Amino acid sequence: MGSVAFDAIETPFGKTDKIIGGAGTYIALSSSFYTKDQKIVAVVGDDFPQSMLDILASKGVDLEGLQIKKGEKTFFWSGRYHNDMNSRDTLVTELNVLEHFDPIIPENYQGVDYVMLGNLSPQVQRAVIERLEKRPKLIAMDTMNFWMDIALDELKKTLSMVDVLIINDEEARQLSKEYSLVKASKVIRAMGPKYLIIKKGEHGALLFHGDKVFFAPALPLEDVFDPTGAGDTFAGGFMGYIAASDDTSFENMKRAIIAGLALASFSVEKFGTERLLEISRNDVDTRIEEFVALANFEMVQTVG
Ligand code: AMP
Repeated sequence: MGSVAFDAIETPFGKTDKIIGGAGTYIALSSSFYTKDQKIVAVVGDDFPQSMLDILASKGVDLEGLQIKKGEKTFFWSGRYHNDMNSRDTLVTELNVLEHFDPIIPENYQGVDYVMLGNLSPQVQRAVIERLEKRPKLIAMDTMNFWMDIALDELKKTLSMVDVLIINDEEARQLSKEYSLVKASKVIRAMGPKYLIIKKGEHGALLFHGDKVFFAPALPLEDVFDPTGAGDTFAGGFMGYIAASDDTSFENMKRAIIAGLALASFSVEKFGTERLLEISRNDVDTRIEEFVALANFEMVQTVG
């Protein structure tokens, strides 16, 4: 679940009018490379194009939990990236249909094993968990500084109910009030999630669990056009891989992180969801091999 939205994006390379975005959209498109059995919980207005709903349906996404509100407008977000592409300013957030979003879990959604709570208000994320009759095998969630600023107590309640938290380094520092990410990871995991993934933009991602840490680099890319949705694409690839392999071990989470990073590396190559819509599973598999080659080496210890 997550926002299904219109975005307007400005980067040093160009500007878009309203294009389709939203955390839920990126998560669904990205996880569809690994699983054809997906169910979305979200809300749009009747201004949202049927063509995108058809694309999602063609990728196996069950849309029964996607509410279409007559006479209302879809969530709209607009952002501008700085020259380094690692940071951005939010220019506009129009909640529209998200303002009174009451998530519906259709009967045939009950019993799901894997849940990815995309970026939305922590109250709505929690409502989804509470409306599931059976505890899923793994619940992961994303959040952002916006919710830490305006709904920290609600966010902490939701955090106490999930297994995996996926956030970026800046958000981890804000949430924990610690600069060191190792210290931050301890503070945040004490809030509930046993697993913490910290995304570091063009520098890859870290996974913390117990006293184990795993680091995966991001692929050095020649062109980064638009980082919007990279985090959600990562989350979708991560959960899609876990669901497809039905394995929540730490070792498998490492592989899922590589799957997520590979998908995110495609997503940033063009504006919005464009690149995710043109690549195939074969392209993803080839890129994963590049990841393996990037970080793989055999060390020979010399005798001193
Ligand atoms: P990311 O670049 O991965 O952080 O995600 C970007 C997406 O998040 C955009 O497509 C936006 O539509 C969506 N988004 C931005 N702000 C919010 C918000 N407050 N709640 C839900 N979704 C949001």
